[in-house]
Amino acid sequence: MNLERYRKNFRQKVIPKYYSAKIHLLIFSAFEVASISISAKYIEWSWLSPLWIFLSIFWASTFLYFLHRFMLHRIVPGFAWAHKMHHWHHTFYQSENMEYDELNDVYMLLMPPWIQLIYFVLYLPFITWALSHLFPPVFVPHFIFALTVWYGLYELIHWIEHLSDKHMVMTFGWARKMKRHHRGHHHPKFKDARNFGIVEPTQDYLWGTKL
Ligand SMILES: [Zn+2]
Ligand SMILES: [Zn+2]
Repeated sequence: MNLERYRKNFRQKVIPKYYSAKIHLLIFSAFEVASISISAKYIEWSWLSPLWIFLSIFWASTFLYFLHRFMLHRIVPGFAWAHKMHHWHHTFYQSENMEYDELNDVYMLLMPPWIQLIYFVLYLPFITWALSHLFPPVFVPHFIFALTVWYGLYELIHWIEHLSDKHMVMTFGWARKMKRHHRGHHHPKFKDARNFGIVEPTQDYLWGTKL
């Protein structure tokens, strides 16, 4: 497959003419900052806070690992669209060319704006309400705070993993390490079986999928 031709064709046929990566990023950042600030305001910090945050992050990392492995790499009835969109991501970005050519190519890298909107406007308020009936009230703001930070890291680090090797961020060892990890996941031979972790590789070690 000629990747250059595929990308050109994809930009013309799939990426909407009105799409702007800058606006996409701006709206996502505004939601992130707002959600982090609101949840942080409700946190009653105590010596147990690091434990609540650690447990919440561990949950978020496990959830995203299983979502990526079993919902985006397999066809789940009712969610074939998610598999299709993720397949586009894996076709647009392949292990031999992980980098984007132009800024609007992040259309195929970030979560679509409508999923981000559902996450912040519907999912977060719903889960806050639901958890407040199940867990001690002190835990809930810690959880929402950790979940939102982790989701922001997910988008940010996935972006970094698709940056050029010449980008200044790549002077950091962890950025090169995570790009290598994610490149393994984008290899056609391993995409359905290895390196599903995006932010860091713990879950891949835990579930035996580290390449
Ligand atoms: Zn990727
Ligand atoms: Zn994938």
